[in-house]
Amino acid sequence: MKKVSIFGATGSIGSNACSIILNNSTKYRVEVLSANKNYKKLAILAKKLNSKYAIISDKRYYKLLKKELSGSKVKTFSGEDDLINLASVKTDFTIAAIVGIAGLKSAYKSIDKTKVLALANKEALVCSGNIFMKKAKKHNTQILPLDSEHNALFQIIEKNNLNLIKNIILTASGGPFWNKKINLKNVSVSDALKHPNWKMGKKISIDSATMINKVLEKIEASILFNLELSRIKIIIHPKSIVHGIVNYVDGNSVMLASQPDMKIPINYALSWPKRSQFNIENISFKKVKDLSFFDTNLKTFPSLRLFKYLNSSKLEYSRLIALNASNEVAVESFIRKKIKFLDIVKVIEKTLISFKNSNPKSISDVFEIHEEACNVSYNYINNLRS
Ligand code: NDP
Repeated sequence: MKKVSIFGATGSIGSNACSIILNNSTKYRVEVLSANKNYKKLAILAKKLNSKYAIISDKRYYKLLKKELSGSKVKTFSGEDDLINLASVKTDFTIAAIVGIAGLKSAYKSIDKTKVLALANKEALVCSGNIFMKKAKKHNTQILPLDSEHNALFQIIEKNNLNLIKNIILTASGGPFWNKKINLKNVSVSDALKHPNWKMGKKISIDSATMINKVLEKIEASILFNLELSRIKIIIHPKSIVHGIVNYVDGNSVMLASQPDMKIPINYALSWPKRSQFNIENISFKKVKDLSFFDTNLKTFPSLRLFKYLNSSKLEYSRLIALNASNEVAVESFIRKKIKFLDIVKVIEKTLISFKNSNPKSISDVFEIHEEACNVSYNYINNLRS
C-alpha cells in the first residue's frame, strides 16, 4: 500500500485527491490530512479515509476538530509547528496543496521524507525554487507537478532529452474576461471568481482572471524544467483541452490533451511511474468543433507586463518572492473589496520595483523577504485608499 499525506486536504485539489484515494482504498494508506479552518470537512475526510493524523493549522478550531473526531483512532494536532512536524512523517507520496506561501514550510520539510512530492502549491516553488529543487535533487525526491499544464509537460518531457527542446507552451483558458466586451475597471469579486472551465479555490480563480496564474506558472515551469523564461510561451486556448505543448528542435511538436478535470493529473501523479485505469472519458475529437489558439494581449491581461521586471535568462528570487507576496496581499484585499480588480497588478508592480535582485539562501530568508514585500504592498494599498 502506498503511504500518502495530503496537505490542504479540504481544498479543491485536496478534495479531488481524497475522492480518488477513497475510490481506491485498497491501494493507499493515508497518513496526514491537513486543513486551515475547515475542521468539519477535515474530520469527515479523516474518518472516511481512516487517516492516522489530522491537523488543523488555525488553533482556534482544534477543540472542535477533536470533538468531531472523538471516538475515532485519528490523532489530532493543531498549529504551524505541528503541521511542520507532521510533514516529517515518512510517506511514499505527499501532496502539497495548501494555497500560497503558507504551504512552503510543510512542502519543503516533506521533501526528504517522501519519495514523490506532488506539487500543486506553485507559490512555494516560485518563492524558493533554487533551494527547493536543490533539496529534492540531494534526496532523490521526484517533484511531480499537479498543475494541469506542468503535469502535461512532465508527461511529454519525462522520457526525452531536455536539450532537444526548442521551447514549451503553456495554454491558458483566458479566464472569465477574455474576449468579453467588459470594462475591467468595475468587475466584481463574483465576476472574477466565475471561471469558465475549472472549479478551483478562490485565490487561483482570481489569479486566473488577472492571468497572474500564468505569470506564476511560467516561473514554475522555468524552475521545474530548467528552461529560461524566454523559452516558455503562453497562448490562449479557451477550451482548456490541450494543456501543454513541447516544440522540439527537429520540427516536431508534442501536445497533451484531456478533459479539464484536475482528477486526471492527480490520478496520473498518484499512479506514476505507471498509468492506471481511471473512469473518465478521453476527448472525443470528432465532437470538438473548435480547438483554437490565440495570442495574449496586454489590454485584457496587464499582468503580463510584469515580465519586464524579471530577468528572462536567470531567475532572481527576491523579485519572485515580492511578486508572489504582493499578489497574495492584493488578491486578499480585492476579495475583501478594499481595492479594485485593476489595482491588483498596480500593487504588484509598485512592490516589485522596490526590490533589488538577490537570491535567498534559506527558507527563513524567503520569509524575511516575503514579510518585507507584504508591508510594502499594504502601505501602497493604504495610500490608494486614503
Ligand atoms: P483551496 O483554497 O481550495 O484550498 C486550499 C487548502 O489549503 C485548504 O485545505 C485550506 O484549508 C488550506 N489552507 C489555506 N490557508 C492555509 C494556511 N494559512 N495554513 C494551512 N493551510 C491552509 O485552494 P486550491 O485547492 O484551489 O489550490 C491549492 C493550490 O493548488 C494553490 O497553490 C493553487 O494555485 C494550486 N492549484 C490549484 C488548482 C485547482 O484546480 N484548484 C489547479 C492547479 C494548481 P481550509 O479548507 O481549512 O481553508
